[in-house]
Parts: sequence; C-alpha cells; structure tokens
Amino acid sequence: GTSDIECDMLVLGAGPGGYSAAFRSADLGMATVLVERYPTLGGVCLNVGCIPSKALLHVAAVVDEAATMAEHGISFGKPQVDLDKLRGWKDKVVGKMTGGLAGMAKARKVNVVQGVGQFVSPNHMEVASPDGSKKTIRFKQAIIAAGSSVVNLPFVPQDPRIVDSTGALELRSMPKRMLVIGGGIIGLEMATVYSTLGARIDVVEMMDGLMQGADRDMVRVWQKFNEKRFDKIMLKTKTVAVEALAEGIKVSFESADPSVTAPEPQLYDMVLVAVGRSPNGKKIAADKAGVAVTDRGFIDVDTQMRTNVPHIFAIGDVVGQPMLAHKAVHEAHVAAEAAAGEKSHFDARVIPSVAYTDPEIAWVGITEDEAKSKGIKLEKGLFPWGASGRAVANGRDEGFTKLLFDAETHRIVGGGIVGTHAGDLIGEIALAIEMGADAVDIGKTIHPHPTLGESIGMAAEVFEGVCTDLP
Ligand code: FAD
Repeated sequence: GTSDIECDMLVLGAGPGGYSAAFRSADLGMATVLVERYPTLGGVCLNVGCIPSKALLHVAAVVDEAATMAEHGISFGKPQVDLDKLRGWKDKVVGKMTGGLAGMAKARKVNVVQGVGQFVSPNHMEVASPDGSKKTIRFKQAIIAAGSSVVNLPFVPQDPRIVDSTGALELRSMPKRMLVIGGGIIGLEMATVYSTLGARIDVVEMMDGLMQGADRDMVRVWQKFNEKRFDKIMLKTKTVAVEALAEGIKVSFESADPSVTAPEPQLYDMVLVAVGRSPNGKKIAADKAGVAVTDRGFIDVDTQMRTNVPHIFAIGDVVGQPMLAHKAVHEAHVAAEAAAGEKSHFDARVIPSVAYTDPEIAWVGITEDEAKSKGIKLEKGLFPWGASGRAVANGRDEGFTKLLFDAETHRIVGGGIVGTHAGDLIGEIALAIEMGADAVDIGKTIHPHPTLGESIGMAAEVFEGVCTDLP
C-alpha cells in the first residue's frame, strides 16, 4: 500500500530511551520519525516518574530538614501545605523538561507523530492519531522503545482512593491514613512524600525486607532513621483483599509465614499500589514485524540492541531489568549508532541503582549480600559518616560509604552508599569500576574536603589500612 510518511528510522515511544534514540539517529544523519501516543515527549520518566517524583521529594526533604532546625537554634512554624500550589510547581518542572525535549526534537528535525503505533509489516507502522485518523509510516530501520506499564493487582477495585504511582503523583488529596502496597523504591519514595505532607502510613511487603536488591546493612540504616515516619511496616505479608467502602478502603492481609498471625484488616483513605511494572512488548503488534516477544512481554536483544529482526532494535524497559532511565538512554545510543553502521555494543560493566528516599540508598556493581549468597570472596572498605566532618556538620551522619574489592587484585567491583545525596555520589564508584580502578587509585585520588564525596576515598583508605587523618 501507499505510505503517508517515509523515513530512515522510526522510533516507537518517546521516553528516555525513545527520545535519546531519535536524537542520536537524527544527529547521525537519518531522517527520523518519533511516534508517541501522548502529547508530550519524555515518557514515564519525565511525565509521571523520575522527574515529578523528585520535584516532590525535594520539597519533602526541605520540609523535613526545616523541622530539625530547632535543634540547631532555628525554629520555623508548622508547615502549611497548599496542595494546588505544590501540584502546580511539580507540573511546571515537568513542563519545563518536556518542553525542552520538544525544542530539541524540532532543532534536529525529528518528525514527531502523535498517536498509537502498531506494526503492520517488517517495514510499516500504522499510527492511530487522537483525532481518529490513521497514518502509515514506511521505515528502513526501527527502534522499539515502548516502555512499561504499572502492574495492577487483580482483586483491587476501581476507586479514586486507590491509586498507582501516576495517581499518587497527581496529589489529588491528602489522606490521613494511607497504605502503600509494595516496599520497593517507587512505593517508598511516594511514602516519603506523603508522610512528610502529613499522612500516617503503613507499608505492606510480601518479601522479608524492603528495597529488594539493596544490601541489608544499608536498608537497616534507612529503616532506623525512618522509624517514626511509618505506623507499621508489615513484612512477609500478602495483601489478599481490598474493598471500597463508604467509610474507607478496607484491606485484608495474610501472613506469608504460617506461624505468624496476619495483621487485622485496616481502613485507609488512600491506598497506593506499587507492586512493579511490566513491559509493553505485547501491545505493539510486534508479530506483524516478525519481532519475537517473550511470554512476559519483554523483547530479547543482542549486544547491539537488535531484535531477532536485524533492522529492528529494542531498548529500555521493554527489553528487561533494570527498568531505569539511565539504562534506557545508554541502550538508545548503542542502538542508534549500530543502526548507522557504527560498531557500538552495550558493554557497560555496571548500572547504578538509587532509592531517592531520606536518607538515599545507592549501589552499583556487585552487592555484598549477592557476593555472600553466591560464595564470591570479596573484601570491603567501609567509612562511617559519623567520621565525616561534612556529614556531621550537615546534622546527617547516620550513613556510610562502602566499597567492595576483588580479594586478589584489589580492583573495585561494587559499592554502596546510604546517606543524604548518595545518588549524586554513586557515579564516582561506577566510573571507578568502569576504569578498572583499584583501592590505591581511589584512596590516592585527592577528594575535596569537606565533602560527602571524600567518604569514597576514605573507604578505600580504610580498606588499605591507611590512617585517614581528615575528620
Ligand atoms: P517509557 O518511559 O515507559 O516510555 C515509553 C513511551 O512509549 C511512553 O511515552 C508510551 O506512551 C509510549 N508508547 C508505548 N507504546 C506505544 C505505542 N504503541 N504507540 C505510541 N506510543 C507508545 N528511573 C530512574 O532511572 N530513576 C528514577 O528516579 C525513576 N523514578 C521513577 C519513578 C516512578 C514513579 C516510576 C513509575 C518510574 C521511575 N523510573 C525511574 C523508571 C523510569 O521511568 C523508566 O525506566 C523509564 O521511563 C524507561 O524509559 P523507556 O524509554 O524505556 O520507556
């Protein structure tokens, strides 16, 4: 049939993966079309993920810190929350970022087509616009960046008081009592925001600990610091029924451990379901292009991000864990460059993870718990922030920085930081791992004093058994 648009490169989805792929493709000289169902670019991350959550977490951190200032001789009044204004500010942050992307797409002559895209052949995609019209796009190569969607619990009814992360970020109302189902990063970030704004919060988690993937010693620091933030943290507990009643949302629990009695059913005025995300691979008619999709909806790719169909690539949340924006962006560049004939491969050694809670928890490379469970012999250098002049001066010395080294070569293979700004600090450890640095390299690198970042150099010196002189 005829095509309305012809292009060298079609990118499906305009999240961090998709817009990065489209921009790099255009920069490499390909006539590029970017298909996105929503009116703004940026996908989950910019519109309903990373960025709005951090705008709210910033506000929460300032409010919490202000509340501690009385101990230092400065008192503020009780915070007055204007939810409409706060929402407005968050929307402004998002608008600034998505608007910036639109400008960058225009400057590169990326043709943004709004609508839902479905493959109709290995070289054609049909896009259904919001106005009902349809366009066919013929492409030479394509990059699938269709992202992921929230997982719903089948027994949870539709009710405005029951939200997912997108609903929670909308800040429609401020609950008195809130339940967060799922003790992962997204659930705990939103719990941090809502508790600071005045909600009393319970967290329920099926596993035996919060923030799976992070070392338990770091999570313990976070949990101790947040003891007063939560009413109840119910571990090894399953949510088995959710009923929408006039007087509240009634939630029933079951203990995963038969010897433990489950908590009594509770009434909440808001319930956040944050039990994970699933890939969108099954929603794009990939079979029409011959692209294989796994049962769970992921698309398998090689190190150049090529699917089983060599001229069609896939990147980001839709290709697998970890579902993180910086992973999507890195893969986007690999795919676009490979499509342009360059020899790019995904060969990152490590991908950092960050929980932007208070304190933050960040880790990269192999974790201590993972090494223990796999019987891998590592050695560790740990620097407690109680010995960091900057952390003490900040009134936040509960954290630590830990580095993990190969027992033979003393090369760094992993690291974790719990404390304020941990997420901003972890990049140095990622770089050290990528560069194959050893403990001496890190310990002898002069870090500025007094900073939280120097805790990384000091952790290496602790490992080397060198006396660290600076407080
Ligand atoms: P997405 O961002 O999901 O984008 C996919 C895009 O494709 C969407 O815009 C979608 O509308 C579009 N699309 C899909 N199918 C079609 C179709 N058929 N036709 C047209 N358009 C289509 N990650 C971090 O690294 N740091 C964080 O701090 C962080 N915080 C988060 C907080 C929350 C609350 C959530 C939910 C996620 C967070 N994430 C964070 C995860 C991050 O948002 C994702 O990893 C990232 O957005 C993945 O990018 P992507 O390009 O693969 O897909």
